[in-house]
Amino acid sequence: MIRKAILIVSILLFIGTISISLYGYNKSVDFHDSWDGNYNVRCFYSDWHFEYVAHYWTGGNWPFIFDKPSWYWEKRPTVCPGVWDVELRFPVWASLTVFACYPFIAIVRGPLRRHRRRKRNECIHCGYSLTGLPKPRCPECGTET
Ligand SMILES: [Zn+2]
Repeated sequence: MIRKAILIVSILLFIGTISISLYGYNKSVDFHDSWDGNYNVRCFYSDWHFEYVAHYWTGGNWPFIFDKPSWYWEKRPTVCPGVWDVELRFPVWASLTVFACYPFIAIVRGPLRRHRRRKRNECIHCGYSLTGLPKPRCPECGTET
């Protein structure tokens, strides 16, 4: 049950990420953009990267992270005590890889298990050892081998 939920969520996130990437081709997509007068939080997609920016506005230039490297993480104190400026940037393929992990394992697990059981002369259905049995049939679950 929990495995199925993780699988479905992973697939949805994977499809969602691809959709955002294609939709945001040549333009940026905002997921969240809030501004309360002096503090701004923005999550967006741009140029095959996901970016998160939280900035305390000091009246200077807007230190956007478009020109930063693919992988970027910085946290620094602001003029306001207890408030931090945070910038985070990572490429799309990184999140696609993370979301693809579980579905990939789920797809590969079945064939791998059958292969291993066949090699060990076990029932491919239930894993019961068939060593020394005269009939090619599993006495545990009845599967013909
Ligand atoms: Zn069996």
